[in-house]
Amino acid sequence: MASLCTKCQQRATVYDVGGSKCDYCFQQAIIHNLKTTVSRKGLARFGDSVGLAASGGYASQALIDLLGRSLSEREDGKTTRMKLQVTVFHVDCETPLLQSSEKSRKVIEQLAAKYSFRVCYASEYMSSHQSLKETWERLAWSDVSDISDLEELSRIAVYRMIAILASSHGCKIVFDGLNANSICRNILTNISSGNGFAIPFEVSPIDISGRFSQVSIHHPQRDITDRQLMRYIWIRKVDFVAPNLLLQPVSSVESLTVSFLKELEVEHRSTIPNILRTSSKMEVPLQFSYCSFCRVPVGSNGKLLSTCPDIRLCKACQYRQERMSSNAFQLFLSSFMTMDQLSQ
Ligand SMILES: [Zn+2]
Ligand SMILES: [Zn+2]
Repeated sequence: MASLCTKCQQRATVYDVGGSKCDYCFQQAIIHNLKTTVSRKGLARFGDSVGLAASGGYASQALIDLLGRSLSEREDGKTTRMKLQVTVFHVDCETPLLQSSEKSRKVIEQLAAKYSFRVCYASEYMSSHQSLKETWERLAWSDVSDISDLEELSRIAVYRMIAILASSHGCKIVFDGLNANSICRNILTNISSGNGFAIPFEVSPIDISGRFSQVSIHHPQRDITDRQLMRYIWIRKVDFVAPNLLLQPVSSVESLTVSFLKELEVEHRSTIPNILRTSSKMEVPLQFSYCSFCRVPVGSNGKLLSTCPDIRLCKACQYRQERMSSNAFQLFLSSFMTMDQLSQ
C-alpha cells in the first residue's frame, strides 16, 4: 500500500525526517523552515535590503527560489508576509578549483528574473577582483600542495569578495547557501584543524562573529539538509548544477568529512541534527579576535606572527603557513588584508 502524506492524506512522494509528505506539503514545509529561521532568529527585518551569495550550485539555486517564494506566496491568510529588497551577488572568481560556468550564471539569472531580484557580479568591481585574479595567476601548483588548502583559499577569497560587493551596494545583510550538512562538515573540519573555538560561530544561523565588520553573512538554510534541498530543486525542475568545485583525484579533508558524514547518516539518521544540537550548546566566547588570513574567530588558539605582531593566525592557518610556500602564503595574506580594508 502506498503511504499517505501526514499532512493532507494525499499519496506521499517524499520520505522526509518529519514523516512522509506529498510534493506540495514537502515544499511548504521547506519554505516554512526558511521563513521561521529568518524571522525567529532575526536574520532580517521587514523592509531590509538583503544580498544573496549565489555560486550557482543547487544550494544557492534553492536559496533564491525559496526566498523568492517566501516573499511572493502566502501559506494562509494569517501569516505576515516577509518584505525584503533582494540583490543576488555572484562572484565570478576563477581559481584552480572554482570555475564559474556559463550554465550556473544562466541559472542564477533566470531564477533571479523570476522574482525580479537584481543580480550583481564581482567582476564589475575591478580593483580587488583583478588583484585576486593576479594572485591566483602567480601561483604555481607547488606553492600549494595541499588540496584542502586550495579549497579553503577559494572559499576565503569568495567570502571576502561577497563582503566587498555587499558593502559597496550598501547591503549589510547577506544570506548564503550553507545548509545543515555543510555546516556540520565545517564543524568537524574545525575540530580536526584545531579551530574548535570557532564552533559556536559556525553553528549559529545568524552571523555573530562580525568578521566582515559592516556585513553580516547569515545562513537561513541551516536547518535544511542537503537531501531536502536536492529534492526541492528536483521537484521545482530547476536545472540542476552540481557544486562547481572541479572533481579532484585527491581527497581533501573536506571531501573526506563529507563522505564520513554520509556513511554515519546511513546508520544513524539523526547524525546531522545531533551534531547541530550539540554544537549549539557551546557558549559563545565573549572575547575574541580574528584570524588575519581566514577571518575565523580566534581565542587562545590564535598566534601573533613574530615578524609582524599585527597579524594573527588561527591554528588551521598556522599549519597552512607551514604547508604552503612562504611566498604564496605572503601573497595571499597581503591580498586578503587589502580586501579587508576595502570592505571596511
Ligand atoms: Zn500533503
Ligand atoms: Zn585562519
